[in-house]
Amino acid sequence: MNGRSRTHPAACVLARLPGRVLALASVAVVAIGTIPQEASPQDSGRLWKVHDLARPAPRVVTPGRDVGQPPSDAVVLFDGRTLDAWTSQDGSPARWSVRDGYMQTVPGAGPIQSRRAFGDVQAHIEWATPSPAVGAGQDRGNSGIFFMGKYEIQVLDSYQNVTYADGQAAALYGQHPPLVNASRPPGEWQSYDIVFRRPRFNGAGALVSPARMTVFHNGVLVQDNAELWGPTNWLETDPYRPHADALPFTLQDHDHPVRVRNFWVRPLADTPADERGARESRPRVTVTAAALDRFVGAYGTPTDRAAVVTRRGTRLFVDLFGRGAPLELVAQTTTRFDFLRTAGTADFDAAPGRPTRLTVRVAGIERSLERLP
Ligand code: MG
Repeated sequence: MNGRSRTHPAACVLARLPGRVLALASVAVVAIGTIPQEASPQDSGRLWKVHDLARPAPRVVTPGRDVGQPPSDAVVLFDGRTLDAWTSQDGSPARWSVRDGYMQTVPGAGPIQSRRAFGDVQAHIEWATPSPAVGAGQDRGNSGIFFMGKYEIQVLDSYQNVTYADGQAAALYGQHPPLVNASRPPGEWQSYDIVFRRPRFNGAGALVSPARMTVFHNGVLVQDNAELWGPTNWLETDPYRPHADALPFTLQDHDHPVRVRNFWVRPLADTPADERGARESRPRVTVTAAALDRFVGAYGTPTDRAAVVTRRGTRLFVDLFGRGAPLELVAQTTTRFDFLRTAGTADFDAAPGRPTRLTVRVAGIERSLERLP
C-alpha cells in the first residue's frame, strides 16, 4: 500500500515529498477515516515508458534492392565472385570452384570455413542441389552450414527424397526436423534466412542458455526459435562445452556438388542497445481523493472532448482522444501529473479551486484543452 491511499481525506494537503522519501516513509502518512481503496498498479518492470521521445532512434540500415539482397550493414561472405572470405580448414586457400555467380563443392576438397568469426547473426544463404538428382536419402545433394563450426543446419535434396526427419533439409541436424518440408526441386535455388543465437556460458564454463535458431526455408518458417541440445553430430549430439563467443562458419563437403550463392550475415547485438530508459513514474506528492476531485471532468472543445478525467479511489485517470481506455496519472506536483507508463505529462493550470485548463503532452502532441462545463 502506498501513501496516496492512506492520506486522511479531510487533510486536503498535497504533501510535497521526494519520491524516495515517500517510498521509505509512506507508513508515516497515517490513515484516518475511510476512502475507497484501489490497488496500486504492479510495477510493469518495463525499461521504457510508451512513446518516450528520448528513446534512441534505431540505427538506419539501407535494405537491399530486392528481398534477399544484402542490406547496407551486412558482411558479405560470398558475392558470387571470389572465395576470398574462405579458407580450407588447414588455412590454405579454399579449393571449391567458383563460376557463374556461385561456388560449388568440389567433392574431396574438404569443408571450407570463413576467415571471419561470428557469434549471434542474421544469415542469408542460397543453395541448390545437383540436377538431375543422384542417390537417395542422405546421399543426395548433401552439404550443410555449420554456425560457429558446430551447429549444422542441413542442406540436402529433400524434394521427394525420404530420409530421417532430423536429417532432411532445414533440419538442425540430428536434433530438430523442420516444421514443414518447403523444399524446391533439385537444381532450383533455395534460400535460408536464419537468426542464430549462440550459446552462453558462465565464468565457470556451465551452460547458461543454449544456442537457438529461427529459420525460414524459401520464406517458410521451419525452425521457430529452436533450442539446440549441443553441437550437432552424426549418430549422437555432442555435449555443450564452453567455447569462444565468435567462431567461423563451416560449409560441409559431403562429396556432392552442391552450389551456394549470395551468402551474407549481419552480426547481432546481445540485446537491443537502447533498453535503458525512464521507467514508470512514481508519485512525488500525496494527493487526497477530495483534492483529486478538482480535476475530474472533461477538457477540450464542445465538439471534441479530447480528455476526460476520472477518479477511482485515490487514483486519477484520463481518457485521451476518445480512446475509451483511460491512462493512469501519477502526481508529480500539486498540478502536474505524469502518465504512469506512457511518456508525457498532464498539467492542470494552477488556479485555486477547479482548474480551467489542461495541457497534455504525449507522443509528440501538445494540446492545451479548456475545461468544459
Ligand atoms: Mg550435411
